[in-house]
Amino acid sequence: MRSTNTGGEGAFIGLDIGGQSVKGFRLERDGRVSARASRPTPASLGSAAVLAVAEGLIAELHAPGLVAAVGAGTPGGVDRSGRIVGEAANIEGWQGTDLGAALSRAAGAPASVRNDGNLAAYAEWAARGGASGHAGARGSRALLFVGLGTGIGGGYIEDGCILGGVDDKAVEIGHAIVYPEGRLCVCGRRGCVEAYASGPSIGRLAVELAPGFDTALARAARGASAINAREVYDALALGDELAAAAHTVAAEALARSIGLALAFLAPDTVVLGGGVLAGAKRLIADVERLAPGYVYGSASEGVRFEGALLGPEAGLLGAALYGASSALSREELLDLAAAAAARLGPK
Ligand SMILES: [Zn+2]
Repeated sequence: MRSTNTGGEGAFIGLDIGGQSVKGFRLERDGRVSARASRPTPASLGSAAVLAVAEGLIAELHAPGLVAAVGAGTPGGVDRSGRIVGEAANIEGWQGTDLGAALSRAAGAPASVRNDGNLAAYAEWAARGGASGHAGARGSRALLFVGLGTGIGGGYIEDGCILGGVDDKAVEIGHAIVYPEGRLCVCGRRGCVEAYASGPSIGRLAVELAPGFDTALARAARGASAINAREVYDALALGDELAAAAHTVAAEALARSIGLALAFLAPDTVVLGGGVLAGAKRLIADVERLAPGYVYGSASEGVRFEGALLGPEAGLLGAALYGASSALSREELLDLAAAAAARLGPK
């Protein structure tokens, strides 16, 4: 065990433990990321092997000096003590792992573990300057984040608190059913929004719709077993009609799920992020236009729809900031977030 930090100093470590990789960075108090590390997740070797990788990353990120706190994100459920609940991340034996305690021991500092979508939401909230905002960003009291990537995840922040529900599983918006008896989802049910608007689903939509079109994307899709969302949105930028058709289906499904979320959560800001959005800014405008059709009148009034301020490291920053929130005042935390976001935002 490392020496325990007791003073108001030391950096913050953020970790993102997924089924494919374990990533981490060291966030200094001035908002600089002074070290990064990443390893493949030995998912088939079980919980102990994955923990050993995470502990190794902490040792590496700890090396430059004192660490005040650690935050870590992981897919699926996590209880309030930082123990993994339920199967997630395709890691053998991950359920029941006392991740928080292991990371705290490794770092010699407090460690917090939350669902990764919730931490990405937390980063977007903090990067906007909390409720009051800061130069260049309007603040949010109630922020819904929806991340579109290989799957669709999300999180909800109200007054600076993650509203995670039981075991941090709230806002699994990807599995909101928007078309009963619709397309088959990876979860085994039909009609989840993830089956329409995740990156792979947008690519599959284009392949399936291709026979009805004679466009550049249709010709590419006919020769391929799969295409990705980036190819669809690159084609859309050139006016490809097949790309527009796939996009329309995805945007409609996403708008339906976000309409449900507006009714349940009443956010003032809806942030769309994740890898798919990098090339798909048009999704934001179309969801803003369509979502009010799926919720009673006043629930969509005044809601702002925005793209993510942060790029692919939103989850890592959220983890580091959430860890830091136990050591900093709210004002210090938001200053740190603004400084980090200025360096990490999408280029
Ligand atoms: Zn599903």
